[in-house]
Amino acid sequence: MSSLLIENLVIVGSGPAGYTAAIYAARANIKPLLITGFEKGGISGGQLMTTTFVENFPGFPNGIMGPELMDLIKAQALRWGTSLIEEDAEEIDLGQHPFFIKTSTQAIKSQSLIIATGASANKLNLPNEKFFWSKGISACAICDGATPQFRNEELAVVGGGDSACEEAVYLTKYGSHVHLLVRSAQLRASAAMADRVLVNPQITIHYETELIDIEGDVWLKTLKIRNNVSNTIQSINVKGLFYAIGHTPNTDLINHQIETNSNGYIITKPGRPETSLEGVFAAGDVADSEWRQGVTAAGSGCKAALAAERWLSKNNLTSLIKRSPLEPATSKAQNIITTTEKDFQSDSIWQKGSYALRKLYHESTIPLLVIYTSSNCGPCHVLKPQIKRVLEELEGKAQAVEIDIEIDQEIAKQAGVNGTPTIQLFLLKELKHQWKGVKQRSEFKNVISKLIQN
Ligand SMILES: Cc1cc2nc3c(=O)[nH]c(=O)nc-3n(C[C@H](O)[C@H](O)[C@H](O)COP(=O)(O)OP(=O)(O)OC[C@H]3O[C@@H](n4cnc5c(N)ncnc54)[C@H](O)[C@@H]3O)c2cc1C
Repeated sequence: MSSLLIENLVIVGSGPAGYTAAIYAARANIKPLLITGFEKGGISGGQLMTTTFVENFPGFPNGIMGPELMDLIKAQALRWGTSLIEEDAEEIDLGQHPFFIKTSTQAIKSQSLIIATGASANKLNLPNEKFFWSKGISACAICDGATPQFRNEELAVVGGGDSACEEAVYLTKYGSHVHLLVRSAQLRASAAMADRVLVNPQITIHYETELIDIEGDVWLKTLKIRNNVSNTIQSINVKGLFYAIGHTPNTDLINHQIETNSNGYIITKPGRPETSLEGVFAAGDVADSEWRQGVTAAGSGCKAALAAERWLSKNNLTSLIKRSPLEPATSKAQNIITTTEKDFQSDSIWQKGSYALRKLYHESTIPLLVIYTSSNCGPCHVLKPQIKRVLEELEGKAQAVEIDIEIDQEIAKQAGVNGTPTIQLFLLKELKHQWKGVKQRSEFKNVISKLIQN
């Protein structure tokens, strides 16, 4: 390993904390390397990728969608020269300096480290939970609530905090009725959020109630719930179950290497980003069991980067890059608009909407990806740049059409789409492959390349 290049600063995690740290470190010319995460510890882009409107992040007076906010913060980090590894960190060894970090394909050494791995949604670990995961159960109402299977159906949310209340209210837009299963005798949510649930006639709150089993056939049908006061068991018929039962800090990689509290949160100096080990800093929810907000995570990311820069410089460990030109090019954060008859191009690698789909489905002679997304779906925001990169690498030998399932509901229904993102690969009208969720770029590229070769 002695031949490895030594980085100035590695940041692990791509939520508001990680990307903000990257913006500051990149602007300080220390060329940070950011490991975004892939499936360990949540989605790349972090928790805001799983929400709709963020109304409290400064600078957006009319609110902004969570995934869009993260796209912009990411674009800002990239614009200033942050390098990305779009994989999980699989091992971190803090017992040696430079520190050692391993991903699925790379081994890295770094003088300093910022841990910004956030927190992950908790599960209940019920017997049938695994089977019905994505077949009715979801940990992200905001991502999956709009899918056709949940429309005008009864749905349930487990939890009694802010997330549970937000999700229950959100789901009333799509479901016919929402059952909120709350273990204690009252809601833990903030008063404003609780009020929105309490006044909503489409929500029934089941207090002191525990979910004990999930049943169905190929899709979730029934929940068995127990009232813990009367000890009675009741069945409710729902087509969707959404978990909103808190989070666990993603600290398994640094277990026992730096100080954490009894719940696993990293302990830092009060109000500061330094951990118990010199050169290792923590930012965001991974070190904050109390405030847990986008803006506090971003603020702590800023502190962590400034502290890391000072620490590197004090210890003469920095290798600065020279920026030329001084001002980076303007970021091209782009919004794809729906393709119309006027702007349809038969050889374009990415178009959007039903017109382009109809034309290409019938006329395209090369592999055609139909990518089902919805505007609030965080994983879709992760997936789209990945697939665009694959299509660019394939130099026009394959193409894609994006279908927003909220706009083109009928198309999604006919295609049997029950969650976003779903990707269907066609050649000459024949369905060749289907993926659900975000996968590694290489997986898409291998399957498409085989079709091109045949
Ligand atoms: C439904 C919902 C709605 C919310 N709404 C708001 C809101 O309106 N306003 C607000 O301010 N806050 C909101 N929050 C809270 C906010 O999202 C979090 O406080 C914030 O995202 C924390 O940022 P973070 O960077 O610390 O961590 P996260 O956002 O959790 O990001 C952690 C990152 O670390 C990565 N990671 C984890 N393990 C690894 C690994 N082994 N290797 C590499 N990467 C890894 C993950 O992929 C992820 O990218 C909401 C949260 C939820 C769940």
